[in-house]
Amino acid sequence: MSGRTLILGGGPAGAAAAITLARSGDAPLLVERAAVPAEKVCGEFLGADAAALLEGLGLDLAAMGAVPIRTALFGAGRHRSQMPLPFVAWSLPRLRLDAALLDLAAAAGAELRCGVAAVAAEAHAGGWRLRLADGARLEGARLVLATGKHELRGLARPATGGALGLKLAVEGVELGEAIALLACRGGYAGLQPRAGGGANLCLALAPGTPGLAEAARDPAALLAHVAEGSALAAGLLRAARPGWPRPLAVAGVPYGYLHRGGAGSPGLFRVGDQVAVVPSLCGDGIAMALASGQRAAAAIQAGRGAAAYHAAWAGAVAPGMRLAGLADGLMARAPWALVRGAGAWPRLAGWAARGTRMGLA
Ligand SMILES: Cc1cc2nc3c(=O)[nH]c(=O)nc-3n(C[C@H](O)[C@H](O)[C@H](O)COP(=O)(O)OP(=O)(O)OC[C@H]3O[C@@H](n4cnc5c(N)ncnc54)[C@H](O)[C@@H]3O)c2cc1C
Repeated sequence: MSGRTLILGGGPAGAAAAITLARSGDAPLLVERAAVPAEKVCGEFLGADAAALLEGLGLDLAAMGAVPIRTALFGAGRHRSQMPLPFVAWSLPRLRLDAALLDLAAAAGAELRCGVAAVAAEAHAGGWRLRLADGARLEGARLVLATGKHELRGLARPATGGALGLKLAVEGVELGEAIALLACRGGYAGLQPRAGGGANLCLALAPGTPGLAEAARDPAALLAHVAEGSALAAGLLRAARPGWPRPLAVAGVPYGYLHRGGAGSPGLFRVGDQVAVVPSLCGDGIAMALASGQRAAAAIQAGRGAAAYHAAWAGAVAPGMRLAGLADGLMARAPWALVRGAGAWPRLAGWAARGTRMGLA
């Protein structure tokens, strides 16, 4: 059995674990199924935690062309409000972010095997064995599971149901340095400027929402679905044109899922969306992915077990997850209250925005 660490998944969580391990002298092996980084369903909002963590890893968001975001706009029905963000946030396409993180991992000495998926993992001889789609088998002393929204056979999260996530690049939208949170039937959308031009529209919708199947297939139907939800969205999207032939979709996103550890499987470290899924647009999934990847790597280096790492992580993020869950529930059930509250009490809204951000950096 090799003493090395296997990392499955090359999103922010897997890459952060690989960078941290490699920089301290380990040489982890990271397996990523995409041959080159691909678009992902994500609002691409990088809050203060994510920005600080990325800077700590060595990325300069401004130099990478990220767009600063200083204001949040809210729209629900005829209600609208706005507030200054209590921090500078950033918008950067996941394509660029994920590629830059994997480059850092390779430069630090991690071995990357991209373009091949793992089909299964099993405990083997005191460590872990991965079976790859090309028939290869890889063995390691431990496994960092960083497959994000995707389950691996034998290690699936015990979560059922979940939201539908949709993403569409759009042209013809002017937002300046603002993100717009827009209530619509079945959930809400985030609309923010996209580095390089246009805007990124990203939605989390409840399954069974009327019109959902059409919105997931047809960009024009998706834009109409959002525009119908508020006067603010109708105005912002008046001249919008889809930038892609169809939206990108991911089903079954288990918001609120938190892996609390327990005895679990020794040597199996869950990170990113595999350890906790914060409601999108109410919390920073990318910051949580980066921080969990780093903390799992630190635990491995210190010889701490997976159970201790999982318990510490759950303790650190549970309060912020609860607050994000409340904001998510309010946005789903009484979005006008949140919209009016943000306008009337911007300091309270700023406190809540900071609270869901968790101070992970
Ligand atoms: C609708 C929506 C909007 C969101 N908006 C935001 C936002 O604005 N800001 C924010 O911070 N967060 C946002 N998030 C959350 C954020 O996208 C995730 O929390 C983050 O991507 C998790 O990172 P990760 O590394 O765990 O997983 P991922 O980024 O999903 O990466 C997982 C990687 O594993 C690879 N993989 C999967 N299975 C296998 C396999 N079997 N073999 C090999 N490789 C595999 C995948 O190809 C992928 O590259 C949003 C999420 C949703 C659903």
